[in-house]
Amino acid sequence: MADSTQLVVIGAGPGGYAAAFYAADRGMQVSLVDPSPNPGGVCLYRGCIPSKALLHIAEVINEAKHAAAWGVTFGTPTIDLSKVRSFKDKVVSQLTGGVGQVARMRKINYVQGTAAFRDPRTLEIARVDGQSQTLAFEHAVIATGSRPATVPGVSIDSPRVMDSTAALDLPDVPKSLLVVGGGYIGLELGSVYAALGSRVTVVEMTDGLLPGADRDLVNILAKRVESICEAVLLNTKVASVKEVKDGLSVSFEGQLPEGMPREKTFDRVLVSVGRRPNSAVPGLEKTRVKVNARGFIETNGARATAEPSIYAIGDVIGEPMLAHKASHEARVAIDAMLGERVVFEPEAIPAVVFTDPEVAWCGLTETDAAKQQREVTVARFPWGASGRAITIDRTDGMTKLVIDPRSERVLGVGLVGPGAGELISEGVVAVEMGATAGDLKLSIHPHPTLSETLMEAAEVFFGQSTHVYKPKRK
Ligand code: FAD
Ligand code: NAD
Repeated sequence: MADSTQLVVIGAGPGGYAAAFYAADRGMQVSLVDPSPNPGGVCLYRGCIPSKALLHIAEVINEAKHAAAWGVTFGTPTIDLSKVRSFKDKVVSQLTGGVGQVARMRKINYVQGTAAFRDPRTLEIARVDGQSQTLAFEHAVIATGSRPATVPGVSIDSPRVMDSTAALDLPDVPKSLLVVGGGYIGLELGSVYAALGSRVTVVEMTDGLLPGADRDLVNILAKRVESICEAVLLNTKVASVKEVKDGLSVSFEGQLPEGMPREKTFDRVLVSVGRRPNSAVPGLEKTRVKVNARGFIETNGARATAEPSIYAIGDVIGEPMLAHKASHEARVAIDAMLGERVVFEPEAIPAVVFTDPEVAWCGLTETDAAKQQREVTVARFPWGASGRAITIDRTDGMTKLVIDPRSERVLGVGLVGPGAGELISEGVVAVEMGATAGDLKLSIHPHPTLSETLMEAAEVFFGQSTHVYKPKRK
């Protein structure tokens, strides 16, 4: 007889394991299927967590260099790459091991393998121990995530061409690294390699880094990226990559800066041009689940697919491809499965780019307000006027509020500067709670902190900021 379960979750990333854990906490009998030894998915094994461990090392290197300006000189750092790698690997195993432990404490049946649909109520699992297992289920959640996108002619079969997973393995510190794509991964991992000593060139096909994010925030980061990189090529694409002796010969097409040759040799290339959903789950065609033209599984607001027994969450259903979006959808899907009237309709999904400086935003951006022709007032507080930013010698930051001029509600928040990723949470709460600029202004913020910049940005809106003299126009 086949094994059976009330709920099976396919894929144990931050979407899948959050769904499995929450369902178990709500009293369901749960199986969780994933090829890795422990839950974690892309985020814990080869995404958010290892990249942030390496970015922490980069931050320490950069901070130590910066300290020379304050009279404290540390000298050139010596990089023991195998120790750097072990620190990153230890971070991953500590977290995935811990998540595995809490899965066992919740009595979740963790099956290490790859799932395929036999029909809308049964899975065939190819287990990593070589056995095959049939599992009947009442409900399933598909949380199979995404994989790196490739570019024909660029993602050639060479160990010198890396995707994010290969780059996180830190094979070496190449003398020269070409990063294709100036988005989240290119800028985060490009910063890591630059701090470790690589000469980094970034090539981005659009006219700016981090397309979609507000330019006033990105411009501050872009200055810094230009200072740590050998070159940042905008409006440029890679036409081809060829393996040559001791490197990769890359030819560019587009607007190149004067003096930049059309063809150049690099030690390694990192391709970071986006991610594609893992929606080709074998046997999915035996269900009524629909996949759209972009390859994402279609769901309704409760994350139900067209097949009543099957839900889907996370990267496999659409953008933004962020871990916290996947985990939040997990709870919505389980609540819906348990008969609650729920819908995934956040006002603010925070986005954080963990570069130096960090860039973070949530809710309505100024760019989207302009696209929607929505009238907004933007209040900006430059960190040059923040006592805390001056004490850490990081005045290259800005806090902005996107405000509805009539209701004075805070619709969106944008930040650039060290720690922006932590500060944005106050913005998320403000937007979700329907806070007004007055609420932020009247909430006492501790001094001296960077969080005061949120309060003072609200004061800017009223023309009453203590540290910025900008009277309100009458
Ligand atoms: P995933 O984490 O992709 O997990 C899906 C799991 O399903 C995988 O383990 C996969 O092996 C498994 N699977 C696939 N098919 C099957 C099958 N048929 N049977 C069984 N199992 C299957 N996001 C952030 O929010 N913050 C960050 O700082 C951040 N940094 C990132 C850095 C990098 C380098 C990368 C690549 C991504 C980063 N992301 C970050 C994005 C984040 O990792 C994803 O948004 C998140 O992991 C999506 O979660 P998920 O649960 O949808 O899927
Ligand atoms: P991305 O979408 O953030 O950036 C890809 C960039 O590549 C874009 O700027 C795009 O214009 C550019 N591009 C596309 N094709 C190109 C080409 N042929 N030549 C030059 N440039 C090209 O994608 P990513 O950096 O690969 O990251 C994938 C996703 O993973 C992100 O969108 C995000 O959802 C997630 N992620 C999040 C974090 C975080 O939250 N801090 C970190 C890493 C990844």
